[in-house]
Amino acid sequence: MTTAEQTPTADYRFKAEVKQLLQILVHSLYKEQDIFLRELISNASDALTRLHFEMLTNRDVLDPDAELAIHIEIPEVAEGEPKKIIIKDSGIGMTREELITNLGTIAQSGAREFLDKVSDNKELDPNDVIGQFGVGFYSVFMVADEVRVVSRSYKKRAKAAAWISDGSDEFHVEPAEKEDRGTEMHITLKKDAADLASQWKLKQIIKKHSDFVRYPIYVAGEQANQQTPLWRKQPSDVTQEDYTNFYRQMTMDFEEPLLTIHFSSDAPVNVRALLFIPAKREKGILTSRKDPGVMLYSHNVLIQEYCTDLLPKWLEFVDGVVDSEDLPLNVSRETVQNNRLMRQLGKMIKGRVLRELKKLADSEPEKYQQFWGEYGRYFKEGTAIDPAAKEDVLPFFRYHTSKSNGELTSLDAYLERKPGSQTEIYYVTGDSVSSVANSPHLDPFKARDLEVLYWVDPLDVLIAPGLMEYKETPFKNIDDADIELPETEEEAKEEESETAVPEKEFNQFIGRCVTTLGDKVREVRASKVLKNSPVRLVSPADAQNREMDRIQRLLKQDYEVPKRILEVNRNHPLVAHLAHLVANQPDNELINLGIEQLYDSALIQEGLHPNPADILPRIQQLLTLAAAQADKS
Ligand code: ADP
Ligand code: MG
Repeated sequence: MTTAEQTPTADYRFKAEVKQLLQILVHSLYKEQDIFLRELISNASDALTRLHFEMLTNRDVLDPDAELAIHIEIPEVAEGEPKKIIIKDSGIGMTREELITNLGTIAQSGAREFLDKVSDNKELDPNDVIGQFGVGFYSVFMVADEVRVVSRSYKKRAKAAAWISDGSDEFHVEPAEKEDRGTEMHITLKKDAADLASQWKLKQIIKKHSDFVRYPIYVAGEQANQQTPLWRKQPSDVTQEDYTNFYRQMTMDFEEPLLTIHFSSDAPVNVRALLFIPAKREKGILTSRKDPGVMLYSHNVLIQEYCTDLLPKWLEFVDGVVDSEDLPLNVSRETVQNNRLMRQLGKMIKGRVLRELKKLADSEPEKYQQFWGEYGRYFKEGTAIDPAAKEDVLPFFRYHTSKSNGELTSLDAYLERKPGSQTEIYYVTGDSVSSVANSPHLDPFKARDLEVLYWVDPLDVLIAPGLMEYKETPFKNIDDADIELPETEEEAKEEESETAVPEKEFNQFIGRCVTTLGDKVREVRASKVLKNSPVRLVSPADAQNREMDRIQRLLKQDYEVPKRILEVNRNHPLVAHLAHLVANQPDNELINLGIEQLYDSALIQEGLHPNPADILPRIQQLLTLAAAQADKS
């Protein structure tokens, strides 16, 4: 029976973007011709994986016993005729409709980005960037004068169909004869690509780009890829280059991974694992690993492509392969989730990853900083999602501190440095290292040589309520009004000596602050701790969730400036002058402007000001007054 009645012949025009891509591929790319094979093999491998997963639950497919493999053949052609190659897979196949949609539009974002990059930048040689993009199926037209794709879907009732194009404006679809499942690409090579019709040449390209594809690739009947489960080898038999190649072919990420972890164990659970931490958190556009999770194998058979049940969510950036012979082959998603073995396995792998990270932190601090910069947020979020994770992740946290001179420090190093009498871990919050470094809250700590952590990442503040303590030492925000610190010797002396402002004048000034600021502040009072700063804002002892104020400001959700206590430093010259003015020229306009400015500056310092630019007109007014004054004398 022929299928012609049911699958009519028709011509279609490519979408504009496809034409544009074809144009570039065919006319500008010549140095990187070889990548077409990588792309077609990767499509064949995807099609095989999709079939493999279908068959885990459904054996009612066409050719259930066919080997999952890729075959490349070089058919004989008559002297003078164009050379040909055929790439065949026994994968999921395509119906007529699927051929039209999948091969008539640009499905993949990689190709689109490539297109944008190349067409936005006329100077750019596409040859220089193609290696970074997966341009997909259309790359075949870099080497082909004509392509005939013959496919038959795994669905038993579907008919075979063919898709034909010469890579110009159109493609053609017609019925076809194909008995077995899968896809065949019949490629008629261009003259300048004729040398591809060589077993040796094809094998060489496969070795370079597709060695670790997990299905056998046969060239004229001979297997050309190693297809070695690299993770099953002894680490001592694997070179760094093998790892990098494997990683590249697995992920299509062309940056070296930040960390490679390869280990095996037979007890308590059998496991062979090869794991990677990618250099970047963001997945590249070309990546062939689109989702989080690791590949789960059992007895060398892939049972889950993206397994996220093994490792905690805060390690979901770990990619790679976990293979365990103890896992049953017929695991379903549910059994994976509820399996005791999976829990043991997960625990083991988590422990190993953390151990390797600790090693990295100890031996290559710079590389560890890179890790922390990319993935620190996962660990921070981890403490919020899963309080039990704290113990695992807190040792990996890194902060700038008042003593770390631009370096990052760990909590353990902080604890080691702190004096025995110090019973809390101090932190100050703010928008940036440079702004908190000048925080007035630091005055008493600097005076006592106490180290304070800088919490300048919005996440630090967000997770603060859940952190509570590290190694039984509680965290303490130093904006706390009632923080208890021992007196320094200097302070003891100062208390005896006369302060800069007489008591009565100072109290008058405090009163003036109260009337000027009104209900913007909860209270105004003298500070016992400030040294170099004129004022600071502290949280009232009953303030709830004060960490959230900054978050709300950052998110701009019904933000209302919180009411804090304004503490005034009576020894500061600015305060002394203002107090003097209040006593002698109570109507001087500098007084109110000065008080408002002090308050606004303190808000900015805390990262609480709704709109710092609002203070600029007042600053101008103050400068004008100061300049006029200076000009008079
Ligand atoms: P991508 O592989 O990123 O999706 P491609 O341009 O490489 O993009 O392929 C486009 C689509 O064509 C694929 O998503 C797939 O649906 C289909 N396709 C390509 N090659 C095959 C094949 N050998 N078997 C089945 N489907 C295929
Ligand atoms: Mg592809």
